[in-house]
This record gives sequence, structure tokens and C-alpha cells, in this order.
Amino acid sequence: MSDVQTSKLEVIAGEMGVESAEDKNQHAPPKPLQLGFERAPCGHSPHELRRAYDESTQVALTSLDKKRNSLGIHNAVMPGGQRISLLKTMLTTACERNCFYCPFRAGRSAMKRVSFKPDEMASVFGEMSRARYAEGLFLSSGIIGGGVKTQDKLLDTVDILRRKKGFGGYIHLKMMPGAERDQIARAMALSSRVSINLEAPNASRLTALAPKKQFEDELLRPLIVAHEIRKAQPWKKWASTVTQFVVGAAGESDVELLSMTERLHKQAGLTRAYFSAFSPVRDTPLENHRAEDPWREHRLYQSSFLLRDYGFELEELQFGADGRLPLGVDPKIAWAQRNLTESPLEVNKADKRDLLRVPGIGPLGVEAILKARRIGTLREIKDLKALGILADRAAPYLLLNGRPAGSQQMRLF
Ligand code: SF4
Repeated sequence: MSDVQTSKLEVIAGEMGVESAEDKNQHAPPKPLQLGFERAPCGHSPHELRRAYDESTQVALTSLDKKRNSLGIHNAVMPGGQRISLLKTMLTTACERNCFYCPFRAGRSAMKRVSFKPDEMASVFGEMSRARYAEGLFLSSGIIGGGVKTQDKLLDTVDILRRKKGFGGYIHLKMMPGAERDQIARAMALSSRVSINLEAPNASRLTALAPKKQFEDELLRPLIVAHEIRKAQPWKKWASTVTQFVVGAAGESDVELLSMTERLHKQAGLTRAYFSAFSPVRDTPLENHRAEDPWREHRLYQSSFLLRDYGFELEELQFGADGRLPLGVDPKIAWAQRNLTESPLEVNKADKRDLLRVPGIGPLGVEAILKARRIGTLREIKDLKALGILADRAAPYLLLNGRPAGSQQMRLF
């Protein structure tokens, strides 16, 4: 890789924090901004969280790690839980659009513009991959000459990587606004994951963020088309689809964000939504807008998982009069406090759907309980703990063989 290519990657990496892409640390709570919380919903005290955060940020980076980070290579958690080093980069940092939150917006003089040709980017990443410097690629781009033309360049890059370079690893490819049906199909055939960022939950909110983007035609439609392509040929291996919302810059409520997320899960086969707490970028129209509290992002993730994986409906979640989730309580605990405190569930009889709604019990815990019930009766707290249940969290909402779990010792026969 030449010095010019290295310095171009460094320029891109220096400004590319706006994209959530894959998780760095799934389900991790954010930095505890509000130390007034007595105990964070994850079960840790603010002091414990603060210490964990400080320790995690003080880990000494080796010079190799620093070099990789400066190029845009980060450790990322893949959909299956595997960790890989992922190059997160762009074909060009030039853009003809003017999204208010974006460092790459047209006319932002503080931004240095750099570009790669498709074959150049494919060669750079191919080299990194062969050297095991980066194992996966997240590729986006600013828009020049329209979304369709830009999408073609992104597709050409991935095509060269797959067909000429023989790269078989993870590729997350961005879809440009207005991408056409055959481009979407090609992207889904060549990539592991494609993303089309809605940015906002509806057209009117999008106007406050990205006035040149058309919500229905350019952003929502490609997500629906991706689902149609998958449904038309279900036997084929297609990329999963994800989207991302900017949170806190357009006055949108959590109800709006989660309504759209729920709709996309049900009607567009969306794998997941990413929520990116807004952080102002200097020399943009939103530079004086306040940064969003990262706890809001965390509560949105928790709620979207409840909707997607735990059988909850939007109406069951607790929102304030402003349509926001309370920041100080885990949404699953809030539901349990309202619905299970007075009528706890008998753990030996409750069905799968109800068990999944108890804090401290996840899909694996439910399976473990059902299996254990086939051979005996759950009677004591330690029986739940032996099954991997977060028993202290679950106990206030459970009965164990007819008696409140919180006040019992348990045995498993
Ligand atoms: S289209 Fe908008 S978000 Fe994308 S690079 Fe251009 S200005 Fe940024």
C-alpha cells in the first residue's frame, strides 16, 4: 500500500465516527453520564460503571493497534458474535448532498476530500486482507453524480474483491439513496450485509436533518425492495439488511423511532436498527445543537431488542408524555414492575412467552427452565442460578413452587 493510499485512509478514518456499523461491544451500557442513578439498569452501580469505563479507556494501545485505528480498522462484533478486525472506510469523502449532521456535507471547507477508484480500493483492501491486517470491510461513500452512479462504483469495488481478488470474508456495503432494484439485488448477492440509513423515522423529521434526501422514494423504498428480492428467491444466499437513525437532532420521539423500527422488522425483514446518539460536528448547521445523552441510545437498543426478540409490542413499553423512554430504568424492568409485581409468575407453570418477559431471563434462560421443568420442580433461588438465570433480577417477579422467589431458598430435585 502506497503512502498516498495510507494517508487517504487516515483522512477518512479521522472523520468517519458517524457510522455505527457493526458493534464494538454488543449490549454494553454507555459511559455513565448521570451519576445520580442509584443503580444502573444493567445491575451495576454508577461507581462500578465509571471504574469499568475508565479501565477500558486506559488499556494501552500497541503501536500496531494505533496504526490500525488511524487507518479505520477496528475490532468489531459480527452478527454471529465472532470478533474480526474491520476496515471501515469510504470510496470518496466528496459529496454533493448537504446533510446537516455530516462532516462530509457539500461546502464544508474544513473537510479534506479524498477519493479511491474501485480497483484501487479493492487492491488496498486485498493487500490488507492478505496480510491479515483487516479481515472484513465496511464500505460507504459520499455521493457524486447521483446515488445510482455512486452505487455502481461501490458495487464495482466489491465485485473486484469477490471475483478477481477471491475475498470471501465479511463485507458490509452501504446502499446509496435512490439505489435501483438491480443494484440492490447485486449488492445483496455480493455482500454479507447491506445498509440503507433512514436517518430519521419519517419524512418530516428527515427534513430537519437532510433536506436533499427523499424519505419514501430514496430511503424507505430500497429497504422494501430488498425484502421483496429476498422473498422472491428465498433459497438464495442474500445479505441481511440494517438501517441507522440519528438520535436527538430532529426533535423525534422514541415512539416515532421504535414505531418505524417495529414496522421494518415486521414488513421489511430488517435484521436490526442502529441508533446513533447525535454528536455535533463543527462547521455544520447543527454544530451548536446539544449532543444526545448516550443513555437514550442504550434505552432504544434495549427496547428494539424487546420488540424484535422478546415478543413485546410497542404499546407495552412505557413512554413519557413527550414520547421518550425513561432514561433511568431498563424498559423490561419498567414493564415487569407494572405488570408482575402484584401478580408474579409461577416459574414451574408459566409459558415460554411469559417467561421471556421476566427481567434476568433471556431466550437461553427460558429454554433452560423448560428443560429443567421436565425433570423436576424448581424450588430455590440457587436452582435458577444453576440454569444461568440472573436470579436476583428475576426473583421479584417469580413464584417458586407457589412461594415468592425473593424470599425463598431453592432446591432442584
Ligand atoms: S449523503 Fe449526506 S450523510 Fe451521506 S456523505 Fe453526503 S452529506 Fe454525508
